[in-house]
Amino acid sequence: MPSFKLSEMAKKRAFEIAFVGLKPGVHEFSYEIDDQFFAEKGAIDISNVKASVKLFLEKHVGFMLLKFDIGGTAESNCDRCGNPLNLNLWDEFRVLVKLVDNPEEMNGSEEDPDVFYISRTESHIDVSNWIYEFVLLSIPLQRVCPPDAEGKSQCNLEALEKLREMEAKQIENNAKALWKDLDKFKEN
Ligand SMILES: [Zn+2]
Repeated sequence: MPSFKLSEMAKKRAFEIAFVGLKPGVHEFSYEIDDQFFAEKGAIDISNVKASVKLFLEKHVGFMLLKFDIGGTAESNCDRCGNPLNLNLWDEFRVLVKLVDNPEEMNGSEEDPDVFYISRTESHIDVSNWIYEFVLLSIPLQRVCPPDAEGKSQCNLEALEKLREMEAKQIENNAKALWKDLDKFKEN
């Protein structure tokens, strides 16, 4: 299907910025990121990603400052009870891109993760990996049901009770197995 291929190519190109043709100063780009983008980059335990990314590219002679503003929403599950959760994405990240003669060598020895080197002969820069990484980093680490207005946990009590039962059984089984091993040890 040629139309599909064309749109795929267009998408790929959208993440490649032809910075060489940009005037010095700030340029704004925006991206809407969905599940498909994440599926192509590798699976993760969130779904329904609707991230909007604003990229401000500040062009200078010999270097560029990239600021990524991440916003939007995603869905996941509560780490405690497993209930579905709506997550708000919010964060910003900066990358300094320097144009040098030996980018591979420089990238190999650079310890600052926010500094990246590209060749002086480069005309395009692909920002898709940064966008992927930064959207992931903007997802809250703690994923639990938020408390209600009175500060009470809104976790699914039934599910929590089941989990506790399963844990208790697990402990009981482990203890039984341990005694069995001890008995065997005594028999020998
Ligand atoms: Zn919960």
